[in-house]
Amino acid sequence: MTQNRYTRLKAIEEFGYDINWDDLKKFHVGIVGVGGLGCVSAEMVVRCGIGKLTLFDFDTVEAVNLNRHMFKDEHIGQLKVLVAANILKEINPEVKIKYFNRDIMDLNFESEFENEIKQMDVILNGLDNIPAREYLNAKCILLNIPYIDAGASRSGLSGYVHPIIPYKTACAKCLSSIAIDIPDERGEPCVASLPSTMAILASIQIQEMLKYLLKFGRLIDYLMYNMITGKFLEYVTKRDGNCPICGQKSDIKNKLVKPKISQGDLNDLIDKIKE
Ligand SMILES: [Zn+2]
Repeated sequence: MTQNRYTRLKAIEEFGYDINWDDLKKFHVGIVGVGGLGCVSAEMVVRCGIGKLTLFDFDTVEAVNLNRHMFKDEHIGQLKVLVAANILKEINPEVKIKYFNRDIMDLNFESEFENEIKQMDVILNGLDNIPAREYLNAKCILLNIPYIDAGASRSGLSGYVHPIIPYKTACAKCLSSIAIDIPDERGEPCVASLPSTMAILASIQIQEMLKYLLKFGRLIDYLMYNMITGKFLEYVTKRDGNCPICGQKSDIKNKLVKPKISQGDLNDLIDKIKE
């Protein structure tokens, strides 16, 4: 049998898992934030042989980013998405790579961002600040796109990974709106950062992505990792019916799923106005 870049990956199928590794070529993955997490996850997505990868970030490479993976001295001052896309194309030319040097929270980019992510099978979060994370959470729930949230603590010594299937599992906002004993270390802008912590969290994101896309194994719930204790702790979460984003009373869901007025009623109303 001819060997290629996927031979060792496909060999996993021989260990009793009913998966077809080539299916990954059908999928489109988005990575929002090409920093400490996104650079690692992007490289693994590409090496695994995904069909299409789209990157979003609006930063340029700075000297302080060089403790992480991917970027080198020569990239300082260049756009992160452009540098990353060029490196990723060299790593695996078979993957279609697209990038946007845009702030996802820029309102002028909103409809284009929505149109792009609607085409994706799963999104990996590599953002470093809470407002942008909450914005991405709301967009993914609204558009019903699964995403794998992750983030490191400000100390760089711990972090979490949380796969979110809209309307099936707790979203990022559910976690903050129900009483659950999760330490509040959820992905704030980092002061310190360890490439090893980032790589662990990004690697777990990729494991969950592979299981979700290829439909094998069990998705984790909400996993926390602490390098000081060396422990992984998995928390059981549940959806909050009153969640402002994915709950039953949420406006965002009502607007999308349950129009307050049916098309028939609307037609009657228009007829009445015309009379
Ligand atoms: Zn929710």
